Amino acid sequence: MSRHRLETLTFDNSYARLPDAFYAKVNPTPFSSPPHLISVNPAAAALIDLDPAEAARPEFAGVFGGSLLVPGMEPLAMLYSGHQFGVYVPQLGDGRAILLGEVVNARGERWDLHLKGAGMTPFSRDGDGRSVLRSAIREYLCCEAMHGLGIPTTRALCLVGSDDKVYREQIETGATVVRMAPSHVRFGSFEVFYYRKQHEQLTRLADYVIDGHFPHLREAPETYARFFDEVVERTAKLVAQWQAVGWAHGVLNTDNMSILGLTLDYGPYGFMDDYDPGFICNHSDHNGRYAFNQQPYIGLWNLSCLAQTLLPLAPREELKAALDRYHERFDAHYRGLMRAKLGLLQEQPEDEALLAELQSLMAESRVDYTIVWRELGTFSTEAGATNDRLRDHFLDRNRFDGWAVRYRERLAREQSRDEERRQRMDRVNPKYVLRNYLAQLAIEKAQQKDYTEIDRLLTLLQNPFVDQPGMESYAAPPPNWGKHISVSCSS
Ligand code: AMP
Ligand code: MG
Repeated sequence: MSRHRLETLTFDNSYARLPDAFYAKVNPTPFSSPPHLISVNPAAAALIDLDPAEAARPEFAGVFGGSLLVPGMEPLAMLYSGHQFGVYVPQLGDGRAILLGEVVNARGERWDLHLKGAGMTPFSRDGDGRSVLRSAIREYLCCEAMHGLGIPTTRALCLVGSDDKVYREQIETGATVVRMAPSHVRFGSFEVFYYRKQHEQLTRLADYVIDGHFPHLREAPETYARFFDEVVERTAKLVAQWQAVGWAHGVLNTDNMSILGLTLDYGPYGFMDDYDPGFICNHSDHNGRYAFNQQPYIGLWNLSCLAQTLLPLAPREELKAALDRYHERFDAHYRGLMRAKLGLLQEQPEDEALLAELQSLMAESRVDYTIVWRELGTFSTEAGATNDRLRDHFLDRNRFDGWAVRYRERLAREQSRDEERRQRMDRVNPKYVLRNYLAQLAIEKAQQKDYTEIDRLLTLLQNPFVDQPGMESYAAPPPNWGKHISVSCSS
């Protein structure tokens, strides 16, 4: 594998070659105090063939803290708009993130280096262009936690801190996080040109995305409709994965929806601790528009916004037909994922009711979502087994016992073997997730300049399915103080 230094990374800035209307060229604004490296993620460095030893150089914190550029970078802020909480906002754009450039690795893969918290851009509106340490840590850790869970996401390369003050509800310090993705184009990137009636730019954007990321569609009949259909498929699958793992995004505005079907823009997200289908992780989401159980519908709502922007390019009926397939696709993915969580190999008609009853039991008892699914893997089908450890999570034991009888019968019908099934279930029911309180502990330590917990969590969450020695407490339910940490958009 080739190992690059910062100065020898290979850039090919395809976005910067698009017309000026797509972005504003702007350099990061250096912090007034020298930036320092907080954490680097070797797995992401490997994606761009960057030698992880480079992290030890002061230039590394310089480049990824916004005070230095290396040859080949052409920084820009991407333009987009979007529907925020259902309302169209004609111009958003990267207000505090800057695309430094696109690295092409030895395998020919393209990775945007996106520096979040890089200072003001022409799209900053009333914002200061900064990210606080707290939110940078949350984004950094969750990107990698999602990746560890097998959920498509932007990746995180490193976290850089500064002593500069940033004013939010309280005074905090500024930080940057470098995230990486094959592209940061959003649904909102299409919306801005559609609503401005700039159809030439709209076509240009669609062609750019298709050429770069959906090249197999280039020669297909009805390329644009097929493209939309693939975005529907990817989005349906992504949302199904969120639902299976019990994760809520918190701000599913169309500007936070990746055209590649990646989890994008980590703000007030949350993994559920106690199972509550109506879980709202964003303290500012008073109506629960982005509640956990609304996400599948919001996925469709956002896709219909995207479909609208493609009306100048594709037949209405075809876009409509693709939208109509969303539910079916979501359901198929969701059913498949939940069947695997239940340890079932075959698909049988009664499975839906079996799952619904378990979820209802889980909601009634507000069980810990991650723990109970993991525990289900230990279910014993042996005669007389009472499965007490699992059973004890539920308030209504009789109702649980009723469910357990049906589950046992269902497992018997496919000759399921306990040990083999447990191993399979352990590969889909994570032991460790980024619980809010775990992130909060890492944040509080980092605010005291102790960054060890960030690296510990990073390593742990990159392997969430494997029991890790000495890390038992990280799989425990949150302490009481950690159950209701308020997370808002102010990041
Ligand atoms: P978000 O809710 O983080 O997806 O952000 C919505 C919009 O607000 C995007 O255009 C962001 O770039 C912008 N934004 C958020 N925070 C800031 C900030 N501190 N400074 C400038 N722009 C911001
Ligand atoms: Mg955003």
